[in-house]
Amino acid sequence: MLYESTRSSRLQCDEFEALLKGSAEDGGLYVDRKLQEKELDLHALIGMDYRQCAYEVLSRFFDGIPEKMLKDVIGQAYDRFAVPETVRLVKVGPLHVLELFHGPTSAFKDVALTLLPHLLGCALKKEERALILTATSGDTGKAALAGFADVPNTDILVYYPKDGTSRIQELQMTTQQGNNVSVYGLKGNFDDAQTAVKKVFADQKFREELAKRKIRLTSANSINIGRLTPQIVYYFDTYRKLVREGCIKEGEKILFSVPSGNFGDVLAGYYAYCMGLPVKRFIVASNANNVLTDFIRTGVYDAGRPFYKTISPSMDILISSNLERLLYYLSGRNNEETAGYMRELKEKGSYRISEEMLKKLQELFTAECFSDEETSAAIRRVYETTGYLLDPHSAVGYAAAEKYLEEGVIVTLATASPFKFPAYVLKALGKEVSEEEFSNLHLLEEYCGKKAPEAISRLQELPVRFNKAIAKEDVKQSIEEYLEEHAL
Ligand SMILES: *Cc1c(COP(=O)(O)O)cnc(C)c1O
Repeated sequence: MLYESTRSSRLQCDEFEALLKGSAEDGGLYVDRKLQEKELDLHALIGMDYRQCAYEVLSRFFDGIPEKMLKDVIGQAYDRFAVPETVRLVKVGPLHVLELFHGPTSAFKDVALTLLPHLLGCALKKEERALILTATSGDTGKAALAGFADVPNTDILVYYPKDGTSRIQELQMTTQQGNNVSVYGLKGNFDDAQTAVKKVFADQKFREELAKRKIRLTSANSINIGRLTPQIVYYFDTYRKLVREGCIKEGEKILFSVPSGNFGDVLAGYYAYCMGLPVKRFIVASNANNVLTDFIRTGVYDAGRPFYKTISPSMDILISSNLERLLYYLSGRNNEETAGYMRELKEKGSYRISEEMLKKLQELFTAECFSDEETSAAIRRVYETTGYLLDPHSAVGYAAAEKYLEEGVIVTLATASPFKFPAYVLKALGKEVSEEEFSNLHLLEEYCGKKAPEAISRLQELPVRFNKAIAKEDVKQSIEEYLEEHAL
């Protein structure tokens, strides 16, 4: 299948190059010009299960992967989930909550990051290896490590800010098993880690040296089509379940509320919409970093604003990279117009979309934002009225959904387990919080009478395998050492 850059229709490649490269040479994102032609037969989906749905969706984007191989890859990824249905739909108060956090790291990123390594495996040529470099502020790093661990012909090196993650997040990474993984604490903040990794990617000479040894430098970040496309599946799967359970009639339009940061999750919903899913509205939910809320309400994207650290850290973002794909489609697949907005963003820190685009945007999208106080209040209110415990990210989505109850059936996406953020959740519930994260975890388990996911509670006992702290100048050296140690 043919992909092109959002910024130039001349930069084209097939799905395998798109998977391995991540983004195009001009900085654009890979998009599919014929998305609207990929319409799925909704009626046929209703009798399927998650994996069959996944095959129906993914085969339309990766038609170069043979049927049996794609089905195997889907099975390998989702065998690792704690529930057989991969994602779980539960009724909470007036809303349907879509739990996306039953994967190995208890966050929604698992849905894509368990699959991506296998898709990359299909993309590699004979004797090639993929070397994945990832800078992380916490969650993505762990989900990527868990996804790539012991996947043949891949290696993954993760760089996190040494003093910039929670204790649980750090332990999740430093105790990672697998013979093809390595983790480094970087002295500096997340931006330092990100910049240091980007520098290696930009080092043409180094890349050529690696290419000679049949090693392809790759990233696992959320603009990769291998991250985006697996997320389309759960929108269709949810619709299918709602029809089957008699909550909606086939063809009835529904709403989705999506806690958003980099705009990948909700964009996958938009892809599903383009492929024929009956959606009335997407509610884009943000925390105090409300650049998307302002954009959807006014048509002006302005990244020139203060950055807040919130209790929903995975949504603390000022530049939502995946939004570029939506601009491309809303502009009628106009590469020049899209490139123009991105140039303005780079040069001035802001851009304003055309009136026509704004109208199209607002027909389908609406936006809400919430402070930490409002988010905490939502966690407590929902727990006290329904007994259901939300994590701070999911609570932002839930609070947004509550504003649209009269518009129809609403599904709100739950993106992380509450046990990943025990201190924030306990505090929201009005409980005492200790300095020690594992005490908080146990307090939360006792308070709500539920067990934390195995993978989180077990962390205390696992041996730490990686405790290297390196300077940000030494990323390249760390790669060379890794390759030497592994005789690559
Ligand atoms: C990454 C993440 C989000 C935001 O998703 P985007 O695709 O970046 O919009 C929300 N919640 C959690 C828990 C996440 O890890």
